[in-house]
Amino acid sequence: MTFAELGLSPEIQRAIDELGYTEPTPIQARAIPLVTSGTDLMAAAQTGTGKTAAFVLPLLERLKKFASASASPAMHPVRALILTPTRELADQVGENAARYTKYLPLRTTTVYGGVNMDPQTAELRRGVEILIATPGRLLDHVGQKTVMLNKVDILVLDEADRMLDMGFIPDIRKIVALLPKTRQTLLFSATFSPEIKKLAAEFMRDPQTVEVARQNSTNADVEQLVYEVDAYRKRALLSRLIRQRDMSQVIVFCNTKLTADRLTRELQREGLAAEAIHGDKAQSARLETLAAFKSGEVKVLVATDVAARGLDISELPFVVNYELPHSPEDYVHRIGRTGRAGASGVAISLMSPSETKFHEQIEKLTRQKLTPQQAEGFAPGRAVEPSADAPRGRAERDARHDKGERAERGERHERSDRHERRDKPERYERADRAPRGDRHERADKAAERKVIRVDRYPQDNRLLEDDGRPDTPRIPGRRRRPGDKREVSALLLPPRYK
Ligand code: AMP
Repeated sequence: MTFAELGLSPEIQRAIDELGYTEPTPIQARAIPLVTSGTDLMAAAQTGTGKTAAFVLPLLERLKKFASASASPAMHPVRALILTPTRELADQVGENAARYTKYLPLRTTTVYGGVNMDPQTAELRRGVEILIATPGRLLDHVGQKTVMLNKVDILVLDEADRMLDMGFIPDIRKIVALLPKTRQTLLFSATFSPEIKKLAAEFMRDPQTVEVARQNSTNADVEQLVYEVDAYRKRALLSRLIRQRDMSQVIVFCNTKLTADRLTRELQREGLAAEAIHGDKAQSARLETLAAFKSGEVKVLVATDVAARGLDISELPFVVNYELPHSPEDYVHRIGRTGRAGASGVAISLMSPSETKFHEQIEKLTRQKLTPQQAEGFAPGRAVEPSADAPRGRAERDARHDKGERAERGERHERSDRHERRDKPERYERADRAPRGDRHERADKAAERKVIRVDRYPQDNRLLEDDGRPDTPRIPGRRRRPGDKREVSALLLPPRYK
């Protein structure tokens, strides 16, 4: 099939010709005619299948009748709203949409949190037909009356599974309430969970369904390898694999921001061009790192799941799971970063003995056998020996780390962050607007500074009286109240806090 057979206008055809798209991908071949006909559509397409063009191209086809060269903002109301869970994905979709509209006088703009609102406000005031937004920042603009959504004809929920996971559904409900009832709604999701189906029933009318790959399936073009290795030797094995396989571009996934930062520092110390990308980094720093990675200046991008969503790096040859994800769906998303748009890729997972249960869950979800292997010299279960790869001090520290001491040191799993978003969306809905200052993140940073912030003593529960105050002051002469925070030098703490 060719794009010409899909009946796209010459202006759109010209733009995609210039991008070198010769034929539609399967999701495009199936979704484009349906979206052009105006029906609601629920599409299960893995990342890397060309799903962005699958909704943007027909959306342009439908909006082309509104294209206007007029300078008047009134002639450019928002006609299509594309909601994405992360800033990176919003950026990616925005870039693609701008490329596809090159020959049409339709305006596109992208708004997300973590950056100054003023330039976004100026763009919105000028008028824009296609708006790509993260939910929190969009609601900020709605609150400031810089955007009207009452002319929206098409709503796209991109990576809806992740929006659900990140607790954005209350925001989405608020946004949908501002849209006309008669509209076309498109929902794209890597997986179709029962929750996603419920969401579709709430926001869509008789949607058509398109599935191009089996649910939760992994891309057949990706070679998947699992190495059994002790946690404290993972870094050494990773360095060896990077060098042995001559990895010029690799994303390494970690479960926590702290591990990502620490691993990055260690790789840098070894002379590897590594940078970390995660939710604590400023948006400008994230975009800079991404650009450096795309240009080849940075070879190893160490990322957490949330930050990595929406990264579109074409033909990425390698993905490494430095830690197995605790949610098997994240495995599918992670390895979807490689082998994109038909290119082949290698996904390597480093599995410590304590991670076997996650391995089993991945096998179950993806319905495939991933037989673990051992790299020469890295068989797990050996005594901690000093070696060139792993100096004794660090090796022992990493081994302790694997024994669950992370929690004590204030490190937390990024997934718990997402769970908290789901439970307390009101706290997180501002997450992409202002730097987050929650207690856990301070704990992360405090742990790094070797200073522990003590919110409450373990025995606090026992000591709390009905009025909510501890009956015994923690430090003689000073009465503590719940919520009081004190910094205690690591030197003064019992060993388990250090
Ligand atoms: P997506 O799944 O939307 O993130 O797209 C993955 C990558 O495939 C992007 O870099 C697109 O530019 C590219 N792409 C999308 N459609 C096509 C196509 N028909 N032919 C070649 N590349 C494509």
